[in-house]
Amino acid sequence: MSPSTPSALDLATSVRSGERTAIDIVEESLAAIEALNPKLRAFLKVDGNGARQRAEELDAARQAGETLGPLAGVPIALKDNLCTRGLETTCGSRILEGYRPPYDATVVERLRGAGAVIVGKTNLDEFAMGSSTENSAFGPTSNPWDASRVPGGSSGGSAAAVAAGLVPVALGSDTGGSIRQPASLCGVVGLKPSYGRISRFGLVAFGSSLDQIGPLTSTVAEAAALFSVLAGPDPRDGTCDERPAPDSLAALEKRDVSRLRIGVPRAAFGAGVEASVTAACRASLDALSARGARLIDLDLDWSDLAIPTYYLVATSEASSNLARYDGVRYGSRAAGHEDLIGMITASRGAGFGPEVKRRILLGTYALSAGYYDAYYRKATQARALMGRQFAAAFEQVDVIATPTSPTPAFPIGEKSEDPLQMYLCDVFSVPANLVGLPGLSVPCGASADGLPIGLQLMARRFDETTLLQAGACLEDARPEPLGLPPIHRLAKGGAR
Ligand code: GLN
Repeated sequence: MSPSTPSALDLATSVRSGERTAIDIVEESLAAIEALNPKLRAFLKVDGNGARQRAEELDAARQAGETLGPLAGVPIALKDNLCTRGLETTCGSRILEGYRPPYDATVVERLRGAGAVIVGKTNLDEFAMGSSTENSAFGPTSNPWDASRVPGGSSGGSAAAVAAGLVPVALGSDTGGSIRQPASLCGVVGLKPSYGRISRFGLVAFGSSLDQIGPLTSTVAEAAALFSVLAGPDPRDGTCDERPAPDSLAALEKRDVSRLRIGVPRAAFGAGVEASVTAACRASLDALSARGARLIDLDLDWSDLAIPTYYLVATSEASSNLARYDGVRYGSRAAGHEDLIGMITASRGAGFGPEVKRRILLGTYALSAGYYDAYYRKATQARALMGRQFAAAFEQVDVIATPTSPTPAFPIGEKSEDPLQMYLCDVFSVPANLVGLPGLSVPCGASADGLPIGLQLMARRFDETTLLQAGACLEDARPEPLGLPPIHRLAKGGAR
């Protein structure tokens, strides 16, 4: 959505052909970060030296006649819950402050292999728990469209960094919407692949049956290119599927809007959704229909099931995953305790913020002996039911469209004292995680005050190709893109 930001694909082409150098591109990105990050707080850590060194290696390799990868010289930002060897990885939490992983996540290895240059780590809600990036222990990120508003979450730093043109592309993680919702609120593209598509090795676990890594980009084509680099089997993640990565970028060329059957759940455009969001999403669906797509109304209604089911499954898994931060094996240790239990209690008490504690308590309760059947087991049954409802819907349609989020970006502080209101932001995004489906948010318009609005598309599991094709059709059909976010006015020539 930032037309003056060159696309990652163009940048890589220019580096591969020798028209531009990787170091030149990386310096531009670092200058933009320096100019705008103090205002946005999208990055927790900028690795200027590492990025320059890598860019120079790439330039030298090209000079020596080596063929560079598909992302040659492309600056990329990583959500700070992705392990980077030797580079601090905090998950936005005090408990991991100073943690330098001894290894790279599989996605990080694949990005490096493709020639991408990691410029830094981005802000997030602590352990990816939240929808606004306000739950970071290191302070909130601002939305580039209006600095008094949230960028969404939990991958808010990555979304803001791409929207503001600090980097052309970034990675986030999505357990219940954390790529798609911030993409929607910041006016960029966000892809959550099918569960099992991309290795989770080196992604700090939140809800292991829900978590997926994916790209945040300005265009669907860039998302497709990153997806093809990241996807595919990995023996280090037992849940990673054996299918090889499809060439989704090439498949975009074969998109055919006239063959697209788009399911439109009536309930997703009704009560609880802000009028500006309904209007923008409807208008883009009408534009697709005018180009030949078939819109099919669906009775699919998950509004009563989605939030309770997700918040039982996700908190249960989180309570188990976060048990490892005890000051012994992982996490900072509180000083001055002679006994083990006292030390663990103090370490966890000081290291975790209020939302993380709330989730550990909720999840521990849902898994406890007396309540397991009533809560956790019930949630797994509801999850299976939702899977059957989606399977039935996908017998009639190729993709399902909903708003990504019921509202555009909200003011910082508006929902932070009201967890239930915050959880309700996720009503459209959590089903894809519960069912394992791929989901994509594409900018489709703006509210009256100029805040971006995203349309979410979902497809059958492992059918990212159709999903991305539908997303590209939406880009073709939608009204004019939004232009540059106002944050650019602050950059005195520093940013592109
Ligand atoms: N907003 C959701 C939550 O708070 C989703 C978070 C995510 O996808 N990581 O759990």
